[in-house]
Formats: sequence, C-alpha cells, structure tokens
Amino acid sequence: MSQELITVAYLGATILFILSLGGLSNPETARRGNFYGMLGMTIAVFATLMAPRVTNYLPVVIAVAIGAVIGLIAAKKVKTTQMPELVALMHSLVGLAAVIVGVANYLDNHETVIGTEKFIHEIEIYVGVFIGAVTFSGSLIAFGKLLGKISGKPVLLPARHWLNLIGIIGIVVLGKMFLGTENHADGAVSLYIMMGVAFLLGIHMVMAIGGADMPVVVSMLNSYSGWAASATGFMLNNDLLIVIGALVGSSGAILSYIMCSAMNRHFLSVIAGGFGSDGGKPVASGSSAQPAGEVTPISASETAELLSESKNIIIIPGYGMAVAQAQHTVFEITKLLRERGSNVRFAIHPVAGRMPGHMNVLLAEAKVPYDIVLEMDEINEDFPATDVAIVIGANDIVNPAAQEDPTSPIAGMPVLEVWKAKNSIVMKRSMASGYAGVDNPLFYKENNRMLFGDAKKMLDEVLSGLKAKN
Ligand code: NDP
Repeated sequence: MSQELITVAYLGATILFILSLGGLSNPETARRGNFYGMLGMTIAVFATLMAPRVTNYLPVVIAVAIGAVIGLIAAKKVKTTQMPELVALMHSLVGLAAVIVGVANYLDNHETVIGTEKFIHEIEIYVGVFIGAVTFSGSLIAFGKLLGKISGKPVLLPARHWLNLIGIIGIVVLGKMFLGTENHADGAVSLYIMMGVAFLLGIHMVMAIGGADMPVVVSMLNSYSGWAASATGFMLNNDLLIVIGALVGSSGAILSYIMCSAMNRHFLSVIAGGFGSDGGKPVASGSSAQPAGEVTPISASETAELLSESKNIIIIPGYGMAVAQAQHTVFEITKLLRERGSNVRFAIHPVAGRMPGHMNVLLAEAKVPYDIVLEMDEINEDFPATDVAIVIGANDIVNPAAQEDPTSPIAGMPVLEVWKAKNSIVMKRSMASGYAGVDNPLFYKENNRMLFGDAKKMLDEVLSGLKAKN
C-alpha cells in the first residue's frame, strides 16, 4: 500500500475514533460509537500491516491470534462488575508495551540518528519509558486492589511525599545523564535504573490511594496509558498512534476530572493518596464509629404494599443490583407500577457500581426507557416530593454522612439525598458497609426501612406481591 493511501486510511481511522468517543457519551448512541471504534481499529491495524516496513507477517499473525483468543475468552468470562479490573489490567499492558518499544528503540536505533534528531529521539524514548513504567506498575497495583488481592486500605509510608520527590529528582538526574552521554552502554544503564525507579513510583503512588478513590485512579491510569501510547507513536514515527494516544490521554483526563467533581475531591488530593479504608467490611457491633440507633426491617410483601400505594417512586441502583443481576426484575416492577399510573424514575450517581456508566449499561440491557433514567443533578431536588425512594444494593452513593458529618472520610462527596423522601427502603443483604468502608446513618433514619436479602430474590418476591395485588 502506498504511503498516501496509508495516510488516508489513518485519517479515516482518526475520524472514526473521534465519532466513537462522541457516540459513547450517550447511552442511546453508545452502540453506534462502539461500532465506529471497531471499524476505526480494523482500518488502523490493516493500514499499519500494509506499510512497506512490515515484511514478516508470521509473528504478527501469531500475536493477533493469541490476542484474539485472550480477548474472546475475557469478553465471555468477565462480568460487568469485573470490568474495572480488566480495564486496569489492559492499561498495564499498554504501559508495558511503551516500555518494551522504548528500550527496543534505544538498543536498535543508536547508529542511524545523530545531532538534534538523536537528542529529540532520546527524549521521546526516555519520556515514553517513564510514562509506560509508571502506568504498568500502577495499573497492576490498581488491578490487585480492585480484585481484593491487595488491601483497599491506603498504604502510607512515613515521609511518602519526600520519597516521591526523591524519586522524581532521581528521574530528572538520570535523564540528564541519559541525554548527556555519547556512550550507548552508559545510556542504557541510566534508562534501566530510571525504569526501576518509575516502576517503584507507580507502585508507591497507587498503594497510597484508598479504595474509594480507585475509580478515579483507574480513569487516571487510562489517561496515562493514552500518553504512553502517544509516546510510543513518537518513537515509532506513527502519526495515528500519536493522535489516538492523545485522544485516550485527554479523554481519560477529562473523565478523571468529572469523577473528581462527582466525589467532590481535588485531583491532586486523590493522587496524594491517603483516602479510604478497606471496603466491604461488616460494621463491627459496638464500634464507636457506628451510628446510634436501631434499624427497622421491612418484608417484601410490605414493600410491595407501600410501592402500590405510592405515586412518586425513585429507584436508586448500586453495585448490589449488578452483583445480583436484578436489573430485569427491576424493569418488570417498573413496568407494572407505570402501567398502574405511578411515576417511576431512576436516579444514577456518577460513581454508582464499579465503573462509570455501570448502572446505565445494566438498565439499558434490561430495556429500561432512557427518559426515566436521570443523572444525580437532574433528580436530587425531587426527593422531598417522592413517596418512596428504593435503594437497590447501593450504599456509599446514598450516605448522608457525606453531608452531615465533616469528619467522615467521604465528607463533601455529592450523594443522592434519599433520606429526604417521605419513605426510603434500602435493599441489601446485611449491615455491611459499601466500597468506601464507611458506616451509613441512612439505615437508622426514622423514615427508612431495611429489606434484607439478595436483591434479585427480594425483588422477585416484591414483584409477586405486586402481581397478587391485581
Ligand atoms: P457500594 O459498594 O457502596 O455498596 C453496595 C452495597 O451492595 C453493599 O453495601 C452490599 O451490602 C450490597 N450488595 C452486594 N451484593 C448484593 C446483593 N447480591 N444483593 C443486595 N445487595 C448487595 O456501592 P454503590 O454503588 O453505592 O457505590 C459505589 C462505590 O464504589 C463508591 O464508593 C465508588 O467510589 C466505588 N467505585 C466506583 C467505581 C465507578 O467507577 N463507578 C469503580 C470502583 C469503585 P451487603 O453486603 O450487605 O449486601
């Protein structure tokens, strides 16, 4: 394929990737966005393989086959609740690829480039390997934390900010040595030492970040992986990789910013770490942090009774709905109540579940109409005029401590103001805390009832109760 044709193909792929990002910003157009992305990637891979410098196809075919098999197995096996782990693992691979390309480029290219070109090329290599190494190790730690293999509790070494500073200074000094040397072997030593320091920095940075901030970290690592890909594009002289990397890098950065705003956290304070504790632990009885009071349980049939008498209902789905795969029953209940004249709407918190858009995906899968699915800002003011707010497997996103207790670890995080509804029902299996590992005073409010049990099982019973009332 001629260079002109390849350039046209790259341009077409770039446009498709931009259209893909645009499509993914709305559940109604997300399917189309995904299609554009797949088409763009196919064109990009095909055009790259047709370039004159690709001469040996066998390793490429083997690599594509291995990648395709792994991708297919992952797509079939991984549950939506495990997506953040998968995404973190994939980011680590992008980081590793940037490191490998950088080192290979340095070892390979040293005799062909000279002067200013050599200087610029070495900066590209150094920066690419640095970003790649931080992304690789940071993503692996995020993967371990999300999987629960590494504690979600922030690991705070004494003088950790100083350690980070020393690491950064070390990287600058090594960079000076790397760029200043004419001796290739010395340059390689500086590069390898910097790589080691960058690996440690990535580990240290993410270890210090607590469970509740992990979504922001994953999105931030997404951004890093984009910049790592962009740096790889510079090293390989591949314009498409530079542009796509920049698209991923900047969209990841924008998403991190949006998520920080949704959690009322400053990006820098997230990176500095220290927030959150190990998630999902039961609230220890008698613990001083436990809110005072007793909870009032409610049965599934009483819930059905209350729902059938209510005109305005808001459903708040959370991580537990995803675990129980209760979205289809939720839709059945919604349909029934709407047919009987109730106004049923859904309130979606930006970090509900375990990935941005998690709840939207599940509700779309269950065919819940988009116009009754509202974002937090669109619906939060409507709770006082709501008869029943029903919380399905959500916890942190409806925690009033975020507003009422300035000492709470989630103080300041915007939450859905469920307790302002005339009645609220929280559906979960036990008194365990949510992802952030903090107690929830909502459970003890006078107008709140607890419906204990697996969300799917309980909702099936509620649905039967509602049908019986016909
Ligand atoms: P939470 O993790 O706060 O709470 C979920 C609740 O669901 C738990 O308290 C659990 O209680 C309950 N639950 C679990 N399984 C079931 C089940 N089968 N049936 C019924 N209930 C169940 O989830 P939220 O959605 O409220 O909040 C999301 C949290 O996750 C936030 O802290 C956010 O920062 C974090 N996060 C978000 C990501 C994102 O991008 N959206 C990514 C990673 C983390 P019990 O065990 O008693 O049943």
